Amino acid sequence: MKEREHVDFETLVAYWLGELDGEAEAGIDKHLLGCDRCGARLDEVVALAGGIGEAFARGAVQAFASEDFVRQLDAQGVPMREYRVPRNGAVNCTILPEDRFVVARMEAPLEGVTRVDAIYDLEGQSRTFHDVPFDPADNSVVLLPRPATLRQMPSHRARIRLVSVEGTVERELGTYTFNHTRHPA
Ligand SMILES: [Zn+2]
Repeated sequence: MKEREHVDFETLVAYWLGELDGEAEAGIDKHLLGCDRCGARLDEVVALAGGIGEAFARGAVQAFASEDFVRQLDAQGVPMREYRVPRNGAVNCTILPEDRFVVARMEAPLEGVTRVDAIYDLEGQSRTFHDVPFDPADNSVVLLPRPATLRQMPSHRARIRLVSVEGTVERELGTYTFNHTRHPA
């Protein structure tokens, strides 16, 4: 990229999520040193996607996004593949070369819920995400897999279980099955 051009929102998001190659990343590093406008926009991205960036930096394949973050991507015209998974339902999913992100909304009864944990299970290996973001008004939790990793993954079946946590009491909200097909590159 040219040093003088401002960085678009989509690229700033990809930059924050560690999705860019070394050369593109170095170009943005350099631009940000001299551009307050893009620095301010990056601050917005970090505010919206901060938790996601940190999860990906720790090597997580899955992260959970706020509805605000998805709305912002949508408003900026970022190409996204969106799925909606009914409570205790399943979805056939993929990521195509033109998709910048894939998001899945898992429908769950969230009224009165204050904390949600998500247990991600892939072929017997499970990982728990504590206190994931959600908006009770939407009655859904938004899953955002790391695009670069998802593209590399073979076809597989993964499951996510959502539980609400109130003190020491856990209550099952739903289980969601993702039948993922790898796009032939
Ligand atoms: Zn700029």
